[in-house]
Amino acid sequence: MSVETGSPGLKLYNTLTREKEIFVPINPLNVRMYVCGPTVYDFAHIGNARPVIVFDLLYRLLRHLYGTDQVVYVRNVTDVDDKINARAAERGVSIRELTEATLAQYHADIDELGCLRPTHEPRATDYIRRSDGFMDMVTLIEMLIARGHAYVAEGHVLFHVPSMPDYGRLSRRPLDEMIAGARVDVAPYKRDPMDFVLWKPSKANEPAWESPWGPGRPGWHIECSAMSGALLGDVFDIHGGGIDLVFPHHENEIAQSRCAHGTGTLANVWMHNGFLMVEGEKMSKSLGNFVTIREALGDWPGPVVRLNMLKTHYRQPIDWTLKGLEETSRILARWGEAVAADPDAVSSPGEGVLEALCDDLNTPRAIAELYRSEDRPAELAASLRLIGFDPAALVPDASKAGVDEAFVAERIAARLAARRAKDFAEADRIRAELAAAGIVLKDTKDGTDWSVDPTMRGR
Ligand code: AMP
Ligand code: ZN
Repeated sequence: MSVETGSPGLKLYNTLTREKEIFVPINPLNVRMYVCGPTVYDFAHIGNARPVIVFDLLYRLLRHLYGTDQVVYVRNVTDVDDKINARAAERGVSIRELTEATLAQYHADIDELGCLRPTHEPRATDYIRRSDGFMDMVTLIEMLIARGHAYVAEGHVLFHVPSMPDYGRLSRRPLDEMIAGARVDVAPYKRDPMDFVLWKPSKANEPAWESPWGPGRPGWHIECSAMSGALLGDVFDIHGGGIDLVFPHHENEIAQSRCAHGTGTLANVWMHNGFLMVEGEKMSKSLGNFVTIREALGDWPGPVVRLNMLKTHYRQPIDWTLKGLEETSRILARWGEAVAADPDAVSSPGEGVLEALCDDLNTPRAIAELYRSEDRPAELAASLRLIGFDPAALVPDASKAGVDEAFVAERIAARLAARRAKDFAEADRIRAELAAAGIVLKDTKDGTDWSVDPTMRGR
């Protein structure tokens, strides 16, 4: 602990100030973090997995620094949305059936990626109206109307953006850009083009909830203001999500919560992960260039996908490539060998690893430190555990059971022949081909040894 700040030296980049700052929790005995979760209408893609993995790492680090029971992590589930309505109608199932099935799939996927479940995982539909005194969306909207920040028009309730003088502080966009960026529908009942929906009437066949403004459903932004308020309070420590959420989603969450509660801030630190890219473009459902987490896990074990994500600093774009995944698979196999003698050894994570993570989650540096600790297996195992890997699950399987050993021997001989002929491209190709089949090669002075990558077993 640093004496001056009472903080263990964690620094985080804050989108609100555009600076890396020393993290000082409001209450170190109750560190609170909210991350915007998935809209559960379809399989999540590996771009969606990035914030899940990044904020899982932060959650693990906070628990390490402040204590396992001292950190509260909320990640919501958006289970009311136009895309959900459309998909349920298409499949002829109820909305609840669709969202339940999608959420179960989501959990199975991210469990495989080594992500801890958050402390609370509230569903938006459970926070529209409540009778137990927890904050809900209808109450929050009523507070905004009462304070003059929202108005009712043709069955809609809208947040009036000009009622908040410092609206736009997070995204720092000029007004004309915000108007364009908001992609707001031009609606005759809006007092200002930037005004956004808090509540809207439902059409026939659409799910509807009773409200003082007639049967309808909430806008997207109000969900997160209600759920974070209910579970973390009016002001909390960290709010996270992908960079695309800065505007308008997070800007609007801030406007709603601050104006309803009369506070100067919603979260002290705002963190945003960069995009996962495919051939220079953001992976997204709408561009159609996506690979679902499920598909990725069909080709690669969860730990490989997780480490591949952490190889790039969370604020940088990631280029998702086969070459990167192959290299990651080899690294993990090496670490598995390094800890093989005693993967459950109890030790402390490496100082260098911890320092790198405390520097705004500098995972590329942390990984470089892991390389350096390969000759200190107990420390390596502890560091791996800290960042969400089970060292025992990485240990190569000595049994070689179920492997076609003659085939492997033939491939090794072919690789040797290629190397003798100085065809290194072919030699590398064979190595990669075997790696993809879960066979890890190790060149020694006596020839080439091989083992089974345990994370690939059964594939
Ligand atoms: P959505 O379900 O589209 O609201 O997205 C869920 C989360 O995934 C949000 O935090 C998004 O910012 C994030 N996200 C979506 N696409 C990508 C991408 N290509 N790379 C990184 N994060 C993404
Ligand atoms: Zn949100």
